[in-house]
Amino acid sequence: MRRKDVGVYIHVPFCERVCPYCDFAVVARRVIDPAEEARLVTALQTELRARAPAYAGRSLATIYFGGGTPSLLRPASIAGLIEAVRGQWNPDGEPLEITLELNPSTVERERLPAFRDAGVDRLSIGVQSFDDESLHRLGRAHRVDEAHRTLEAARSAGFTNLSLDLIFGVPSQDLAGVRKDVREALAYRPEHVSAYGLTVEEGTPYATAVARGQLQPADDETGAAMMEAVSADLGAGGLERYEISSYARPGYQARHNRRYWRREPVLGIGVGAHSSESPGSGTPFGARRANERQLAAWLARIEGGGGAGPPQFEALSEPEARSEAGFLGLRTQPGLNRRRFEAEFGLLPEVCWPALQELREAGLLEEADGAWRLTQRGWLLSDTVFERLV
Ligand code: SF4
Repeated sequence: MRRKDVGVYIHVPFCERVCPYCDFAVVARRVIDPAEEARLVTALQTELRARAPAYAGRSLATIYFGGGTPSLLRPASIAGLIEAVRGQWNPDGEPLEITLELNPSTVERERLPAFRDAGVDRLSIGVQSFDDESLHRLGRAHRVDEAHRTLEAARSAGFTNLSLDLIFGVPSQDLAGVRKDVREALAYRPEHVSAYGLTVEEGTPYATAVARGQLQPADDETGAAMMEAVSADLGAGGLERYEISSYARPGYQARHNRRYWRREPVLGIGVGAHSSESPGSGTPFGARRANERQLAAWLARIEGGGGAGPPQFEALSEPEARSEAGFLGLRTQPGLNRRRFEAEFGLLPEVCWPALQELREAGLLEEADGAWRLTQRGWLLSDTVFERLV
């Protein structure tokens, strides 16, 4: 049975600088003008009030401040937004998970205790690498010493649920460098690590540099070897892989992120934010919507009373919903539950996609305990698997 709760994602579009590989909805701001911040917070609250009724009758499970760099906002702004969200729904009986993404920088470190007082109980820290050359290649605004200081400050401020982001496959990085990053991350005994292979997104300056031959990302074989090493080293450090890019100590899986993989409702507010709704009347296979991606246009819509993007959810078709269920289920360690899939779509996954058997014979998938799962080799070649589910 589907849970009757909701998670709320709040997008803050400001970053100290825009990293050349980034394709999120962001604008560069080293320091945010208080008037611009107040305008953003007011617009976010307006959108929240306008859209919360679509999730009426639910309880509140998670709040996630993403971006962008939400920790560039003042703690009072974060506190005001948390209060506004809490005012819309009752808690779901479990402790509310409230995550804030932050990047290592001086201004944000000083704000950590106040963020905690505001109710934030989980930090997702964009460390990316413990090597200055890699950070430079990524175009990141911080350097390694700032990452160390931020992690120490986060623990000193009393945060007991830290997630570190790492990126591997950076040009010039070798396998030893990746393993060193993991070792340095583990030294902080993080509760959670998200480790991503660097991807070249179309339309980014990074993609242009690759096309011109100025940058060479890791080839597939090197990327796979790096992912394998990251998984093994984090596993040895006590963090179990529970999704392609996500590792956690027992009890510390990201509840908000899990909502996406389980296709549970999320209300996304802010520029470029995405929302999802479970199957319901008129949308038997669930629905999705994406907000306007340009900050000025999003503000104009909200302030003009026109909503944040498309006027309504777009209903998923049955084939779209099946593909999404297959792709998201297989991303996770529990895998794609056969009977749950059948209950929702009226056929078993292997009937829907005969290719699953071929992928099993190729050693990329296994079927056990009522679920289809990626094998160790499947984790490394997941794109090949997902291509067959469309
Ligand atoms: S800090 Fe993150 S969100 Fe901001 S520009 Fe860099 S990659 Fe994008």
